[in-house]
Amino acid sequence: MAIATVNPATGATEQEFEPHSAEEVQRRIAAAHDAFAALKDTTFADRARWLRAAADLLDAEADATARLLVLEMGKPIAQADAEVRKSAKGLRYYAEHAEAFLADQPLADPSAVGASRAWTRYEPLGPVLAVMPWNFPVWQAMRFAAPALAAGNTGLLKHASNVPQTALYLDTLFERAGFPAGAFQALLIGSAEVNAVIEDERVTAVTLTGSDPAGRAVAAAAGAQLKKTVLELGGSDPFIVLPSADLDAAVTTAVKARIVNNGQSCIAAKRFIVHTDVYDEFSRRFTEATAALVVGDPLDPATDVGPLATESGRDDLAALVDDAVAKGAEVLTGGGIPDRAGWFYTPTVLAGLGDDARIVREEAFGPVAALYRAEDAADAARIANRTAFGLSSSVWTNDADEQDWFVRNLDAGAVFVNGMTVSFPELPFGGVKNSGYGRELGAAGIREFTNLKTVWKG
Ligand code: NDP
Repeated sequence: MAIATVNPATGATEQEFEPHSAEEVQRRIAAAHDAFAALKDTTFADRARWLRAAADLLDAEADATARLLVLEMGKPIAQADAEVRKSAKGLRYYAEHAEAFLADQPLADPSAVGASRAWTRYEPLGPVLAVMPWNFPVWQAMRFAAPALAAGNTGLLKHASNVPQTALYLDTLFERAGFPAGAFQALLIGSAEVNAVIEDERVTAVTLTGSDPAGRAVAAAAGAQLKKTVLELGGSDPFIVLPSADLDAAVTTAVKARIVNNGQSCIAAKRFIVHTDVYDEFSRRFTEATAALVVGDPLDPATDVGPLATESGRDDLAALVDDAVAKGAEVLTGGGIPDRAGWFYTPTVLAGLGDDARIVREEAFGPVAALYRAEDAADAARIANRTAFGLSSSVWTNDADEQDWFVRNLDAGAVFVNGMTVSFPELPFGGVKNSGYGRELGAAGIREFTNLKTVWKG
């Protein structure tokens, strides 16, 4: 895939970029290595000050950055603006909390291990490679960068090939904010060049957000070098509606949870599993609301759903729907490519899916919802758990026992009760099964790329 900005709303190539040469990649790895030597002797207070300065830059430049996101990957402008501001919030969150999250922890009774004192301390690892996707080009990169830099690591960002201008913007952000040169840099390279970076002995660990195949490839390369990985892969999150739910809120949120980011979010609700007692009502109202969505120019504030980010992504989504229809699915609304330039797909609701339809097992990365009828709560959990993914889940019920039951019985990295899944700097984020492993965000996120060093003193 060429490294280029291609406007998904028009299909026009705006700008192409020469990939970094092998020598330039070497130079950048060396700079990350040198910057680590400088950064690990800085204090939490220094790093917090620079993280806050980076947050201030993000806020001050939010208008232009949001327009850049729209140009490169097509999300609606208000969501692009919200992404930049949320990223600033994430930087400030770690500026405030990193020191407490990484504080030394003394052993209460050191005599039990024959010591006068024993404790653990967290130390940074060094340069960490981050392979990042295009769907939240600033937030995904910042939710790696904020804890990594706060802990004293340095970062090398291999961003998706379709968001090079965002990558270059982030390349200078932290140096402008006061961090040592080389503390955070972008590598303009294709995916074929990633293994060589992983194999470089100066690179200590890797994090990837993206597809299952990309995750497997990167984890295999890192495994061969015995380097730690954190993987945040796809999801096919269930959105479960039980009879006691507030149906108005469930329907409104269901639509929002499906079309967020033009449907291209790992934590978007993708499978709507509805108890048979409220299925017909939910289906009718959800379909009406989906059909009423405004599809159009992502720069127009009135637009609900913009284009898919890439032509291949749009074609993959169309193939998934066509496959379901060929296997007997009913199209309640949408189901096609509108007649206009750009990579749009009409918001779609499918029902009556056969078990052999690919969409039952695969992630639909776009505005396509799959409806399932459940006989009871246990049936809903069975349907929810039958994919290979386990990222997050949303369950709608006002019965307290039922809420607890679902919290215990959904195979997912998170359960949101009576709300849609959202990532917050304050809460750990990550999955089980093929959705990956490790956690980003919260206290858990900053500890992933540290050496938990045990100290024993006789
Ligand atoms: P990819 O997983 O291919 O891309 C994500 C990142 O991984 C990019 O930086 C990409 O680089 C890189 N990458 C891809 N393959 C490799 C590899 N073998 N070795 C090293 N790096 C690699 O996502 P796509 O954009 O192709 O989207 C495909 C599907 O992935 C989507 O339809 C969706 O299902 C899922 N996805 C999930 C995301 C999530 O948030 N969990 C985000 C994006 C996609 P490059 O761009 O140069 O190929």
